[in-house]
Amino acid sequence: MKNCALCSILKSEEKRIILTTTPSFVCVNKEPLSKSHIMLLPQRHVCKLDELSAEEAQDLLTTIHTFSAHLQEKFNTQGALTILNHGKHKTQEHLHFHLLATDGNLRDVMSPYLKAPYRKELTLEELEKLASAIKDGLLN
Ligand SMILES: [Zn+2]
Repeated sequence: MKNCALCSILKSEEKRIILTTTPSFVCVNKEPLSKSHIMLLPQRHVCKLDELSAEEAQDLLTTIHTFSAHLQEKFNTQGALTILNHGKHKTQEHLHFHLLATDGNLRDVMSPYLKAPYRKELTLEELEKLASAIKDGLLN
């Protein structure tokens, strides 16, 4: 897509690229949150998850698996965090996964971002309401 900063990595920022597969590529983040912070993307400009072909989806998951293990070993962590950005949001519309080696978890990343309490366990009734609200219209 024209003017997509992530599409342009393939064309003009090859030095950031770590790996290219037929449908996907892996590169370092332009503003890395850590030395292990990479991005995994389809080569084709895709905005939404349901626009990925089966081949692209399979390749991305396989590549995430490979790089997750590699980064954990290289950066000596017991885990890795993967976040999927898709759809329209503040940064890029090109679907992409962020992956970084960390012993932290989703709460460490998202709690300050969402200005949410680090831990706040809800009652079973409150959880049931949340589940019901999410299920509403799911299979229509
Ligand atoms: Zn793009």
